[in-house]
Formats: sequence, structure tokens, C-alpha cells
Amino acid sequence: MKRPILAANWKMNNGPTAAKSFMDAFLAGYPPRDDRTIIIFPPAVALQVVAVAASRRNDVIVGAQNIHWAQKGAFTGEISAGMARDAGARIALVGHSERRHVFGETDAQSGKKCEAAAREGMAFMLCVGETLDQREAGETESVVLRQLREGLSRTPNLISADFLLAYEPVWAIGTGLTASSGDASAIHTLVRSELCDMIGTRSDEIPILYGGSVNAGNSAALLASPEVDGLLVGGASIESSSWLPIACTPVAYT
Ligand code: PEP
Repeated sequence: MKRPILAANWKMNNGPTAAKSFMDAFLAGYPPRDDRTIIIFPPAVALQVVAVAASRRNDVIVGAQNIHWAQKGAFTGEISAGMARDAGARIALVGHSERRHVFGETDAQSGKKCEAAAREGMAFMLCVGETLDQREAGETESVVLRQLREGLSRTPNLISADFLLAYEPVWAIGTGLTASSGDASAIHTLVRSELCDMIGTRSDEIPILYGGSVNAGNSAALLASPEVDGLLVGGASIESSSWLPIACTPVAYT
């Protein structure tokens, strides 16, 4: 039976005050449920507020949008996995397309971040996905597989590591364009097959989320694909009013 993961990536929205209001409103409208897990990725300055708000809820966990791979040091503006964990994060987002394409994060750096999260006892969610140019050049599969292999290449004991994957086609992020269920399913199948080559049957336990212009109108159809284990949502997750119906997306058990 599918137990989906609905993840909210607030990007650079909702500082501590707005985060508190969001969590108050969201949790009031979202009684505990055991058929799904919610992950909230607030900006680093609001991690603690969100973690405190969710502290009585096993079904709502908090994650960092980004971490640095070093444990500490002269990296102005960065936070380490240990610091994020200290602030309440149980999971780190790694390799989000905005980190890759706005801030120049490389596959090798994504790999070091996954390694750092695992070293600190945190879960991580590695994001992969092709740009429009890469898609049009027929490179989707090779790009996704490269990001996957390099992203996971340094994680110690990958076979037992706590991680998730998110397929987020870059051309669908924040654009209003969404991959068709068929396209998303095809890439999810490719990713799972590659993961099976890496870690064998344990790959069956690794959730693969879809992200890219998900909203309350398309979440049920996307989640209905057997290959889609959850959704990673950006723009529509920033306000509790648009996030709540997505968090409550009905799941068709076929
Ligand atoms: C994201 O930020 O991961 C994302 C998928 O954004 P959006 O839902 O706005 O496309």
C-alpha cells in the first residue's frame, strides 16, 4: 500500500514569523495521519521554529534546503549538516535545480553533501532532472543517470543509508509546466532500475518523488502513478492555504 511523502520546499520564503503562522494554520487543519509523511523544507533561519511547531507530530518532519559538506570552518553564509540537525532538521535536500543552475552546484558537490548528511546521521533527498535544452537534445536519461550516480557515489554504506530521490525536470520547476504522468513514470522507472543495480533489492524501499509545478489540481493524478512515491512542491507550498489540499491529496490504491 502506498504511503506517500508530500514535501514542501519553501525556497527563500517564510522567515521565522511567517513560518510560525504557516505551521499554526497548517497543523490546525491537518490532524495527525499515518497514511503519509509530510516534510517541510523551510529556509535555514526558520528551521527551529518549524521543528518546534512540529515537535509533537511524528507525521511531519523538517528538512534543510541545503547544507555544506564541511563540518565547520571558513564558509561564510553556509550551514553544515550538523548545524542543520542541531536546529531540528532530520533530512537535507541536495542538488535542487536552483542550487545547481543558479548557484553552480556540481554533481561532485552534491555527492559531498549527501556524504555529509549521512555522516551526521541525517537523511537526504537527492534531486535530479534535466533542463529543457538537455531534454530537447535527447539527453534526459544520460543527465539523470549521471546526477544519480555521482550524487550517490560517496555516500558510505549506501545500501543501508537513509535517503530519498526526487525527479524534478528543470523545465517544469516554477514554470506551470508539468511532466505528464507517463513521462514522470518512465524516468522514475529508469531511476529505480539504476538504483537496483547499485543497491539491489533495497532499492525497492527508496521513495522517488516527482516535483515540478505540482498544485492541488494535478497532485492526485501524479500521485496515482504507481512509480511516483510522493511529491516535492515549491511555489504551491509557500502558503498554508494552497499547501493543505496538496498535503491531503487522496491516494488511489489500485
Ligand atoms: C521545487 O522547488 O522543488 C519545485 C518543484 O518548485 P515548483 O513546485 O514551484 O515547480
